[in-house]
Amino acid sequence: MTIASTNPATNETVETFQPMVKDEVVQAIAAASDAFRSWRQTAFEERTAKLMLFAKLLRSNAETYTRLITQEMGKRLSESHYEVEYCANIAEFYAQGAEKFLADHPMDVENVNAYLHYEPLGVLLGVMPWNFPFYQVVRFATPNIMAGNTVMVKHASNVPRCAKAIEELFHQCGLPAGVYTNLFIPSEFVESIVSDSRVQGVSLTGSEPAGAAVAAIAGKNLKRSVLELGGNDAFIVLDDADLESTIQLAVQGRTVNAGQSCVASKRFIVVEAIAKPFLSGFKQKMEELKLGDPMEEETTLAPLSTENAAVSLLEQVQSAINAGATVVTGGDRPDRKGAYFNPTILTDITPEMPTFDQELFGPVASVFVVKDEAAAIKLANHSSYGLGGSVFTSDVERGRRVAEQIETGMVFVNQPTKSQAELPFGGIKNSGYGRELSHLGILEFVNKKLIHLG
Ligand code: NAP
Repeated sequence: MTIASTNPATNETVETFQPMVKDEVVQAIAAASDAFRSWRQTAFEERTAKLMLFAKLLRSNAETYTRLITQEMGKRLSESHYEVEYCANIAEFYAQGAEKFLADHPMDVENVNAYLHYEPLGVLLGVMPWNFPFYQVVRFATPNIMAGNTVMVKHASNVPRCAKAIEELFHQCGLPAGVYTNLFIPSEFVESIVSDSRVQGVSLTGSEPAGAAVAAIAGKNLKRSVLELGGNDAFIVLDDADLESTIQLAVQGRTVNAGQSCVASKRFIVVEAIAKPFLSGFKQKMEELKLGDPMEEETTLAPLSTENAAVSLLEQVQSAINAGATVVTGGDRPDRKGAYFNPTILTDITPEMPTFDQELFGPVASVFVVKDEAAAIKLANHSSYGLGGSVFTSDVERGRRVAEQIETGMVFVNQPTKSQAELPFGGIKNSGYGRELSHLGILEFVNKKLIHLG
């Protein structure tokens, strides 16, 4: 197994890391378990001070982390910078809110004096993806550390330098050894960690197969799990949508993070009354994107995270074309070194094609034309995924009505789905279960203990 940091803009390997051996993992679990005994006793003020310092260090070294993220997984510099700032916001949100979120909760029951008392569970494992290499980890780690748990993270094997930098940051902000541990391990080690009696839960963000594998291990061992998996979000355009802003947001929603976001807009479902001008404007704007080096400010579309990712995406697109899909623009890779993929729009995708229910993790939009609002809702719900989605209309009340009929964990009216520290994030169906962020995110791995006083 190789843990290598390879710059996808050039396909050159920058650094490699030695994976841990089993004994080192066993020692890490023991250290995390020991640390839990004292960390759970610390006062909120102490935890808050450390995570506020974590946020401050993130901000003061933002330039370094920004470049690191871009070099390692290829997103544009401005997107990397946004990610670092956002991580600082999340850390502050939990640093300042945890005590309130975890305050005793009185039970409002007649003739009963009882309350819920929240307690940490113990050592947790996070299995994280590369697409937002700082954000995914911070979203999992900060609420759980504030709750008094200790966390270990197995990051994606293509972002080891980010993984190491995050661990260093948690140490620099004064967390005792064992409260946060980075594990350089192959995914095959996850089973023995989750099976260990000292580990109380696992949170995985990643693909459906990885989620199913880890959930099966958690189930067999009766451990709590949270799964944040893939999505195939609908972007519904109704006949009264403002065309110009909707087209702009369609491009943004599809190409955020070079299209590699679980909540990127992926299926553009457009009612026929507005379909022609939408498609022509969308095509024009997608073609205007400037594909290039993510380190250059003028680049508006970055490479994918790895050469393999670009090869797999091309296979998916070609299989759709072979099955009868029409290429409106793109559909191929440019002739240059690096994991680049041309902005692409496909139409004529039918439910019989495998692509119909696949997540396309890159700048490839599937456009579907439907008769009316009811048909748009029906098609949006025709998916094994249920993560996010969005509805575009100039009538917010109509947007609300449609949003309530979409079978996903999140629906946004007149903007693509996005993440915000104060708002819950998560899906249903094959997009997983559980919620991260907001007050809900800190309640996933705590014992909601009932205390009954008679
Ligand atoms: P991935 O291949 O599933 O990898 C995610 C993590 O799981 C990595 O650390 C990976 O380790 C590990 N892993 C893979 N197979 C495993 C197994 N059988 N047992 C244990 N661990 C395993 O996903 P990805 O390609 O990195 O990420 C893209 C996917 O994540 C997309 O589907 C995207 O939609 C989803 N995602 C979801 C959210 C959300 O919040 N819902 C957010 C971001 C991304 P290795 O790297 O060592 O293989």
